[in-house]
Order: sequence, then structure tokens, then C-alpha cells
Amino acid sequence: MEISLKTLTPLWSGNAKRECIKLREVSILGSLRWWFEVIVRGVNGHACDSTSENKCEYKGNIEKICHVCQLFGTTGWAKRFRIDIDGKFWEPYSGKLVIMGQQRSWHYEPGLISDSISIKLQPIFPLFIDPGDSNKEILDSIMGVLLRFISNWGMVGGKTAIGYGVVKAETNIRNSDFEIFKSFLDVKKNSRANASGAPRLDEMFFARFKVNEAVFLK
Ligand SMILES: [Zn+2]
Repeated sequence: MEISLKTLTPLWSGNAKRECIKLREVSILGSLRWWFEVIVRGVNGHACDSTSENKCEYKGNIEKICHVCQLFGTTGWAKRFRIDIDGKFWEPYSGKLVIMGQQRSWHYEPGLISDSISIKLQPIFPLFIDPGDSNKEILDSIMGVLLRFISNWGMVGGKTAIGYGVVKAETNIRNSDFEIFKSFLDVKKNSRANASGAPRLDEMFFARFKVNEAVFLK
């Protein structure tokens, strides 16, 4: 599947030197995974903390790895899909904006703007040991619902706490996609406890801000 996005606020995709020169696949992938974990925990599914030592490890039993690792991969179990990102990006200004506060200041580096980012997702491995379901359909439905959610309520990339990474996605979601998304989570409800303190949808609240697109688009 191919989904196109445009930025409503600049994207931040930092490299090892903390510079943002290009949008890296790993930034989008990390955000998709983070939001999927949040949603899975919010509906009482199990999502391990993929950044901790307690993350899942595949040792021959798919039932033992969480919903998120099943799709995004973990030790011993490769990511089930390939992601390719393409688009033309530019910086909305040069240098740095600094907003002075009384105690501290906020430093806004330009980040990246684009009116057309293409995200291509292709299945490369079966989702289940026992195939039979259409992998492509499941992958498309899950990613479509995830990107719709992120477009309505979430953000991608880094520095999201100071407003970077608001995007609008062109998704064409059908009711059946939501059904497939839900049934993927229902396949293996289990009693494993989620990591304490890990972010989850049912402990969040959301607010919407209107962004004037003309500010950022050429
Ligand atoms: Zn896991």
C-alpha cells in the first residue's frame, strides 16, 4: 500500500549528531510502532516495552511474543514488512527560532516540511506461522488505521512535545479495516501484564489545535 502524507508542522528526524537532514525510515517506523503499542495497551492487549530488557524474544512460539512485536519484529523474529519513504522536503526557515521564557527558552530548529510524502509498505514475511489469512490485507488495514489515528490525534518523528511532527494522511479506510485491526488484537488476548508506566491510550487525553497551513507551505 502507499499512503501520502503532508506536514502541518515541521518533522524532526534526528541523526546520531542530532542534525535533521533527511526524513529517515526509522523515524516513521519508530512512531508507527510507538502508537501501535499505545493503542494495543489501551484495549488491554499486550505490548512489551520494546526499549527495555524485558522485550519479547521469539523462541519458536509465536503466542509468546506480543501483538506489536509480531508485526514490527523483535529478537529472533524479523519485521514483517518493508517500508520505503519518498518525498521532497525543505526547511521552512534557516537558522533557529528562539522563544525566550522567564526560566528557560525554547529552541526551534527548522525541521523538514513537505506537501507530499509517500510511504510504501509491502509485506515480506507471513504474519502468522499458520498462514491462511491475507497478509497484505492485514498489513494494509493495520497501517491504514494507525496512520489515520496518527493523522487525527498523533504525531511522528522527534521533538513532538514541542509541536513538531503533526501530519495529515490521505487514508482511505473502510469499516472492514477496523474489523481486521480489532481481530488482529483479539487473536491472542493474553494475561501478561503490560510494563508499568508504559504509555497507553486509555490513560491519555487529546486536544486539537488549528494550524494555519499557509504558514508552512510554499
Ligand atoms: Zn513485544
